[in-house]
Amino acid sequence: MTNNELVMLQSLPLEIKILKTEQRIRECLEAFGKDNVAVSYSGGKDSEVLVDICRKIYKNIKILFVNTGQEFPETIKQVLKRKKEGYNIDIVIPKMKYADVILKYGYPVISKQTSTTLMKLREQNLSEKYRNKLLYGDEKGNAGKLPEKYKHLLGEVGFKISPKCCDELKKKPSKKWRKENKILCVITGEMAGESLLRKKEYLKTGCNAFDNNEPKSKPIGFWMENDIYEYIQQNNLRISECYTKFKMKRTGCYGCLFGCHIEERTGNNRIVELMDSHPKLYKHLMEDLNYKEVMKRIGLRTYKIDQQKLFEEE
Ligand code: SF4
Repeated sequence: MTNNELVMLQSLPLEIKILKTEQRIRECLEAFGKDNVAVSYSGGKDSEVLVDICRKIYKNIKILFVNTGQEFPETIKQVLKRKKEGYNIDIVIPKMKYADVILKYGYPVISKQTSTTLMKLREQNLSEKYRNKLLYGDEKGNAGKLPEKYKHLLGEVGFKISPKCCDELKKKPSKKWRKENKILCVITGEMAGESLLRKKEYLKTGCNAFDNNEPKSKPIGFWMENDIYEYIQQNNLRISECYTKFKMKRTGCYGCLFGCHIEERTGNNRIVELMDSHPKLYKHLMEDLNYKEVMKRIGLRTYKIDQQKLFEEE
């Protein structure tokens, strides 16, 4: 798919988008068999919309929710509410706990790519050429190079850094469940508009990536965030209190440090936002999981700052 085709799809009116999405879901159910397909559900607004559309096509569709142990209480409440309403949800618990993952492998900090680079440079026996590429770039450019501002993390900082958390807390338990339940294709709520990476992946395959090693369907891949809110309003969907009570923009793992530095460019990072919404979780991260030290080391604020102060800092 070309970028122009994606832009065209993204600018369609919602009613046409819904029809196209339904068509993609039907194709998926026909290709794999309706009981060999599952929807990945996070309790967040995008997957809430996705599950609603899927259930209108096949009410008993299997739904997978992986409880990473880093979920907001409101997310768990939402998932249990849906289960009680008759949604065919399986709740899967990973083998490892987050506290053990960060101790054994390391904290997921900055971004997946930077965590990977830091882990390789800190722990692996790399060739000189590859090490230099990660530190200084090479004749092809700076792709994968560790940003200067994070080079101090190569020294002894008192904690490990790794991108493996998602593998342990999400991918492995999901894979095991899929195998046990004979799931051949997973429907996800990923949207091209969410990030450059998601867009790149969507352009490669469009909505239905049936030829992947692990077949996947992304039937709302061409939706935009405003479509999600419009659908929620039109269908009177009751979404998680994370949005309605705390006005959060995202749900997901409350303690994830991926992307916090980007949030700080325009406001407070998600960890310090917990001070008001979930003070006990904030205290738990700071005191039990050593976040105070980790955040300081990676250059994140551990206190809230008002917008005016942020403006003055620029
Ligand atoms: S989103 Fe972050 S905290 Fe959650 S499983 Fe992935 S890396 Fe871990």
